[in-house]
Amino acid sequence: MKVPIPAQPKRKLGQNFLRDQNVLQKITSFIDPKPDDQILEIGAGTGALTSHLAGHLTAVEIDESLIPFLQTIPNVKVMHDDIRNVNIAEIAGHKRLRVVGNLPYYISTPILSFLLENSKLISDMVLMFQEEVADRIVAKPSESEYSLMSVLSQYYCEIDRGFRISRNCFVPRPDVDSRILKFRIQTGWKLPFPEYHDFLTKAFSQRRKKLRNNLLRTLGISAAKLDSIFAEMGLGANDRAENLTPQQYERLILETRK
Ligand code: SAM
Repeated sequence: MKVPIPAQPKRKLGQNFLRDQNVLQKITSFIDPKPDDQILEIGAGTGALTSHLAGHLTAVEIDESLIPFLQTIPNVKVMHDDIRNVNIAEIAGHKRLRVVGNLPYYISTPILSFLLENSKLISDMVLMFQEEVADRIVAKPSESEYSLMSVLSQYYCEIDRGFRISRNCFVPRPDVDSRILKFRIQTGWKLPFPEYHDFLTKAFSQRRKKLRNNLLRTLGISAAKLDSIFAEMGLGANDRAENLTPQQYERLILETRK
């Protein structure tokens, strides 16, 4: 199916439309949609990916001018809204959602945060990011790209690095390549999103400082207590926020909150 390109794509809404049919096929195989799936597509645009998806599909798009394109695709519930205002529980109903999207670059990280916050309602997510953002999400402890988003994403999800998508597959052509990632939501975690996220914000608050000093400044905990927890966990006074695994953060939070 030939998908239309709007005359004036809106840069401020991150509108880079996928136009390469081979890549669209490859993405569809990577998603592997099934007729029983309950799928939410974020930023459906003019429906390049939407028309390849099976199942019970809800497509969210913020740009009102694109809604008529989407409404021509059969069997899709189209929602004109900002994804961050959407009630995920209402869309999910009784079944955990599969979430897909070629995310608008300007808010891809806030959207990922919003989805992780709703992870109990989601089974998996196949999302496209600028390659540098994807590298940060999958980076391992002590690597230079390892950041708050790496810890957060890898605590709630197991992540498959997917594949790279050349900037040439989009209209208009962006300045960077993209990468598609698959997030399988995990169930073993003990800490809800607000508590885990809040602690990471404190830990990463001054990245060049040592973790111990950041936590002493932000947690209101005594140095004696923190030092004893650090010793028990085998952490050193010189460790920085980017040296700990997601599971070490879980343990640190559970110990410091006692
Ligand atoms: N899915 C289409 C494709 O692959 O060709 C379009 C992808 S384009 C990178 C991102 C889309 O997200 C645009 O259509 C844009 O209007 C929409 N968008 C931007 N901000 C949004 C938001 N906050 N909520 C929902 N959609 C948004």
